Amino acid sequence: MTAPPRVLTVAGSDSGGGAGIQADLKTMLALGVHGMSVLTAVTAQNSLGVQGAWELPVEAVRAQYRSVVDDIGVQAVKTGMLSSAELVEAVADLLAGTDAPAVVDPVGVSKHGDALLAASALDSVRTKLLPVATVATPNLDEVGQLTGVRVGSEPDMRRAAAAMLEFGPRWVVIKGGHLSGDAVDLLTDGSEEHWLRAPRQDNRHTHGTGCTLASAIASYLAKGHPVPEAVTAAKTYVTGALASGFALGGGIGPVDHGW
Ligand code: PLP
Repeated sequence: MTAPPRVLTVAGSDSGGGAGIQADLKTMLALGVHGMSVLTAVTAQNSLGVQGAWELPVEAVRAQYRSVVDDIGVQAVKTGMLSSAELVEAVADLLAGTDAPAVVDPVGVSKHGDALLAASALDSVRTKLLPVATVATPNLDEVGQLTGVRVGSEPDMRRAAAAMLEFGPRWVVIKGGHLSGDAVDLLTDGSEEHWLRAPRQDNRHTHGTGCTLASAIASYLAKGHPVPEAVTAAKTYVTGALASGFALGGGIGPVDHGW
């Protein structure tokens, strides 16, 4: 049997299984690629929030990455929670040395308001990580933190995208899901513009949507789709996963990968 495309996630663990590495691997399994993981941090987490977080040493992150890439190889990489400036810079250096496309989810703060990236790491994200990204997938809070552009309407998303592209990613997806109305995302490389719309889901169980979108984009890229097709297909996947997000624990439940 021929091996499926291989996709690597470099991200944090969510012990509750809804976001982070766990959401990434579930997405990859659902989309028919071989998922691999480089763990950057471990969180004690559930539907109510993050109760604790511990970073891995930078040597452990580098060693996991080398083990995977040097033997198995990757067709696409996704990055998520990177926790500190030191880890952001180490991962950016590793990505600079590969030809595989990199989907960078510049994870800042969880839906519950827990910090997943130190404020002191923002500059490393801007100057080291975003320049090596094929696709960056910030939400509106992350756009605000990284660029200072506050998005209150769809036209603002254009300004936000332009500001993000100045940091150097080839493409950016501005996730406008927190605006009212349809869930609208803007994908652009500065010349092409794709507005991706999906009806708003009336479902509060949205834990893991950002991780899932970025992993789905990486999975479709690994299967050989060009960026606009990969992002469009990934949005369809997330919309389905979100439609069947379910209650678990006493708080915000996860999106569903079995839909
Ligand atoms: N936990 C980890 C390890 C994550 O990587 C992320 C998001 O990237 C989250 C939690 C946040 O998930 P959400 O904001 O969807 O609740």
